[in-house]
Amino acid sequence: MSSEAELRAYLLEKALLPSGWAEHALVEVGDDGLIARVTTGDAPADAERVAGIALPGMPNLHCHAFQKGMAGLGERRGPSGDSFWTWREVMYRFLGQLTPDDVEAIAAYAYMEMLEAGFTTVGEFHYLHHDPAGRPYADIGEMAARIAAASVASGIGLTLLPSLYTYGGFGGAAPNPGQIRFINPTDRFVRLMERSRAIVAALPGAAIGIAPHSLRAVSTGQLREVAAIFADGPVHIHAAEQTKEVDDCEASLGARPVQWLLDEMGIDQRWCLIHATHMTDDETRRLARSGAVAGLCPLTEGSLGDGIFNGETFLAAQGRFGIGTDSNIQIDAPAELRQLEYSQRLKARARNVMTTTEGESTGRSLYTRALAGGAQALARPIGALAAGYRADIVVLDADHPDLAGASSNDMVLDILIFSAGRGLIRTVLAGGKIAVREGRHHARDAIAQEYRSIVSRLAKG
Ligand code: ZN
Repeated sequence: MSSEAELRAYLLEKALLPSGWAEHALVEVGDDGLIARVTTGDAPADAERVAGIALPGMPNLHCHAFQKGMAGLGERRGPSGDSFWTWREVMYRFLGQLTPDDVEAIAAYAYMEMLEAGFTTVGEFHYLHHDPAGRPYADIGEMAARIAAASVASGIGLTLLPSLYTYGGFGGAAPNPGQIRFINPTDRFVRLMERSRAIVAALPGAAIGIAPHSLRAVSTGQLREVAAIFADGPVHIHAAEQTKEVDDCEASLGARPVQWLLDEMGIDQRWCLIHATHMTDDETRRLARSGAVAGLCPLTEGSLGDGIFNGETFLAAQGRFGIGTDSNIQIDAPAELRQLEYSQRLKARARNVMTTTEGESTGRSLYTRALAGGAQALARPIGALAAGYRADIVVLDADHPDLAGASSNDMVLDILIFSAGRGLIRTVLAGGKIAVREGRHHARDAIAQEYRSIVSRLAKG
């Protein structure tokens, strides 16, 4: 137990608590970065006063940090129809050059931006394991350690999700040259997990899970095996992002990807299906009933031309979802939620789709559902300003002109998501420490300098 002397105290002018909006909430934080208690009323004189409107920090449930360094690549028309698959070739060429130092610096920059943009925990779906020739580094967890170091440098919370990637496509296809840095047979993946678990154990409160990359990158036998070996943590898998993947899965396994996972893997709360874009109504309702989280990455799905998630049906069946930045084409929590709602509006030709209750704020519905889904998928005590949860707090500028017309507290979330955007974010606490003040990360200059020199070198090839 922390003694009174070890607690740091923050007095939040206004805060969204599990019980609803509160004025003058005193949040006391232990050395472990967790909230010891939240009270309202009298505050000690030495509490640090935090002006503004405080929200629980948003979990980012799906990220490939290194892809941040690809900004601007892949936006030029190629000789024939550009698609996810042609973008993937560009991505493979980019990652082929990356050293462990590069990966650490790019990840630190991405994670710093996440904190500035409202994300306080990241789920790193980590598949860039080996050297450019496909050989494990002397430390099999070299790249995992770099991801962990980047999370520490930025202050973001981490759920590390080492990815099992064995094949180049359905039917046990050999990997192509762009994929050799990802590849592990099951036994080596088990060793990688053991090493990754030790790396994560050294971080305060970080978590670990497994990420079988996709049904095209692992065999069904492997998937069953690793889900059984690592039976107590989250399982993330890319599913049904592209129609070609659905067609190939039907041809190879005799079922659509989400249908196959539901029928064969006993999908439950441990699972997070990333994208789940192309589902029939039946798959959508069954996934919702399973208790698994749909890991939606709306900006990336838009960028890559994936398609539109079946949000209306999923929500009507009480489905759980969270949001992820995936390719990091743009790092911005409010923009992810806006793109999610707008894609649903375009699909349904309707408004206020991602809420089910008459009179409910769409912003509140999106924000609180993504908090809960993200927390479940990342298997950490996050997503609420309450005792026992990590002290991850995003504070908005209450004096911003865009909030002048806010006639209710929930309307602040509508303005954050649909109008003002991440420019409203002023202060961010991560694990009880102030990471961002006046919209700027405390280590921005040093992290940006390192990132700039690496990406300019990579751009020269
Ligand atoms: Zn992904």
